[in-house]
Amino acid sequence: MAEKRDYYEVLGVPKNADDAALKRAYRTLAKKYHPDSNPGDEAAAEKFKEASEAYSVLSDPQKRQQYDQFGMAAFDGSAGGGANGFDFTNMDMGDIFGDIFGDFFGGSRRRADPNAPVKGQNLHTTLKITFEEAVFGVEKPLEINIKDECTYCHGSGAKPGTTPQTCARCKGTGRITYTQQSIFGVTTRNVTTCPDCNGTGKKIVDKCPKCYGNGYITSRKKIMVSVPAGIDSGQSIRIRGKGEPGSNGGERGDLLVEVQIGAHPTFRRQGENIYSTQEISFPEAALGGTIRIQTVDGEVEYEVKPGTQPDTKVRLRSRGVPFLRNKTTRGDHYVTLVVTVPTKLTEEQKDALRKYADTFKGGGRKKKGLFG
Ligand SMILES: [Zn+2]
Ligand SMILES: [Zn+2]
Repeated sequence: MAEKRDYYEVLGVPKNADDAALKRAYRTLAKKYHPDSNPGDEAAAEKFKEASEAYSVLSDPQKRQQYDQFGMAAFDGSAGGGANGFDFTNMDMGDIFGDIFGDFFGGSRRRADPNAPVKGQNLHTTLKITFEEAVFGVEKPLEINIKDECTYCHGSGAKPGTTPQTCARCKGTGRITYTQQSIFGVTTRNVTTCPDCNGTGKKIVDKCPKCYGNGYITSRKKIMVSVPAGIDSGQSIRIRGKGEPGSNGGERGDLLVEVQIGAHPTFRRQGENIYSTQEISFPEAALGGTIRIQTVDGEVEYEVKPGTQPDTKVRLRSRGVPFLRNKTTRGDHYVTLVVTVPTKLTEEQKDALRKYADTFKGGGRKKKGLFG
């Protein structure tokens, strides 16, 4: 693995940079090196990735603290729950992209030209999946409200046969400039989006009867979401082109599906590792024996060693959660062996235990307690 540069150095900010400074620095770098602006430029793509990773860590207070404390080691694959890197193909780690790119590739910014194509807004939704589905991945149907261009007016919002008129208030610019004089006599110029046409520069006189002038028709649609194995709660899947439609020929926004994982009755998860407890009897602990342990792969056999102590931790290698970035590698499953003490004994069993206890008298018995 290549030596990674210091995250602060990557973003060019001091160690005590606040959130706004981080965001500013990342925005500048991301804009400069974004693959869309540098098609086929490997070096730029690498820089973009580096900056994105640095920002993903430093913009998360918890990860930043870990990084400040442990450096890059905090995010080695083996540590679990690390930065996870970035995948540009069909998913990312959630809102960073929506946040940052929504601003300059998306439509929330004030535009200079009201007729320029604008990408649609991203939509956010959540998807509940089970513990096992998160471990092994799943295809899940999801119902969402999708806006589609109105086929009757082809998205113009104007009744077919009529044309939208230039907005009289902003004269088609979509913006209004006004000057303001403060009590100190300073004059400032302000620009705002035209409230009459919402920045489109057009005014619809005869509204389309099908879409009521919106240009879009909303319908409930079922889409299939491909949830990758290893996803963790709070991470998002990006589905390209399933967001709001763009305007003026701009592409659709994306749908960001945040995954919520339900609790499991037996297993707990931390990063790529799974934890559970398994009861074993006192004879099994003392004499050893084969037990069956429930894992996400089904039951596996485990050989308990003679003389196993209560709360012994057992590690079942590679029975944990696959790494999101590398499905062939899995975390481990840690099982705590809990030795149970019987509460109901038959007379026969009591006799057997008394006989066992008697064997200690005058010999093997320690200071206090039968088995201590
Ligand atoms: Zn219409
Ligand atoms: Zn206007």
